[in-house]
Amino acid sequence: MNGGAGRRVSLRLCLAIAFAVTLVIAIAVTIIPWSVMTSADAEQSSRTDGAQIETVRQEPPADPPETGFEQRGGHGTTTNTEESEFLRDVARASPRVRSTVLGQSLQGRPLRLLRIGFPRPPADQEIADGPSVLVVGGQHGNEPAGREMSLQLVRDLAFTDDAALLEQLTGTTVLVMPNTNPDGLEANQRGNAARIDTNRDHLNVRTPESRAIARVLREFSPDIGLDAHEAGNPLDRHGQVPRLRIGWQRNLNTDPRIYDLTREMVDDYVFPGVAAAGFPDTGHYGLPDDGQHSPAILSQTFGLRHGVGMLIETFGGTAASRVDLQLQTVHEVLRFQRERGGAVANASATAASRAAALGAARSEPYFLRGADWDTRRPPEEFVLDPPPCGYLLTAAQAERIQRHVELFPLETERIDADRVFVTMGQPLMTLVPELLDPRGRRNEVDARALEDCSKPGSADRL
Ligand SMILES: [Zn+2]
Repeated sequence: MNGGAGRRVSLRLCLAIAFAVTLVIAIAVTIIPWSVMTSADAEQSSRTDGAQIETVRQEPPADPPETGFEQRGGHGTTTNTEESEFLRDVARASPRVRSTVLGQSLQGRPLRLLRIGFPRPPADQEIADGPSVLVVGGQHGNEPAGREMSLQLVRDLAFTDDAALLEQLTGTTVLVMPNTNPDGLEANQRGNAARIDTNRDHLNVRTPESRAIARVLREFSPDIGLDAHEAGNPLDRHGQVPRLRIGWQRNLNTDPRIYDLTREMVDDYVFPGVAAAGFPDTGHYGLPDDGQHSPAILSQTFGLRHGVGMLIETFGGTAASRVDLQLQTVHEVLRFQRERGGAVANASATAASRAAALGAARSEPYFLRGADWDTRRPPEEFVLDPPPCGYLLTAAQAERIQRHVELFPLETERIDADRVFVTMGQPLMTLVPELLDPRGRRNEVDARALEDCSKPGSADRL
């Protein structure tokens, strides 16, 4: 019995030692990579307001980091975990890259912004004041090429010794949001975790994913915006050269100078440039009357917020060749910005005041339907000619557009406890009727359109 008790004691001792050893190993396994992650995350901040990120720079690696996709020879998407490690390694090795986490997806995954400049990215206020190009990848979680392109682009710019690119990066910041729907990527689905298509949410901004993009547009007003997509869940077509389709700004409320520069970028730079690089099958994306002009789509938002912008779509070929085509497309846009950046910056900087003046003067119609190449003229009730001078909202309606006031931003004026006035004489009048008019397809509230705004408070009580 004593012997049995002794064996039980020694057995317990052995179990306790084994448990302790297991615990120590488990803690070590958990803590060591976590401490690495923590130091990496120390590079990241949730602020977009110019916080400088202190990092300990290391010698550049002999071989720049590779994505999971590249390591597997163009097979299998780079996982969310691999992406975090890849971007951490790039940002540690290159002073040209600053990475911050802007927010979280519905399931809590990081929504990152990379700022790239030479010799290092400037402070956020300087980026906002100067020219920038924004590249957005991964809005649709089952369209891998745009995100893989975005990740490789960050790395390539971080380590390039191309003199033209380095000179460009001294005056222009490249902003990259490589993975704007990490939950969709994880689930291999188009929408976010709530199955909302975030690329139909840029007017209503109900998802954390689209709000993160809206904050970048508000903070930095990029001169040029690119939104990268492709055919969902594409199969590899070996031996086939991938095709490129580009959507430009088709919304009729886009500033005409911005519109013309977008067409120039697409027709005179992107298409001939990628063709010369071995991708001859190019064309405009979409069909007449297909709704691609909607202000809820990011590529249209770029223009309605007074930047040049476009949608990238790739089809066919292999995943690796589509990523190469997308990278080539971005490099043609960078070439356009090197040669025409002055005109773009001027058009972008002045479009906001032109819009505000147009809205105040009511001198141009506002289109709630119709796109630049639609074959049918929009029905008259959707052409506001002249547009209203502004909208009157109840306090409850004003409450419902608070996020737009913050994120766009939208100017509002409180008349009294019950009423709020939103003028068309403001830079983002390009979005006001879409948001507030009862005839808007995705309007947030049914506000009252005003024909006389001299004393909006004197309008009949709502
Ligand atoms: Zn897509």
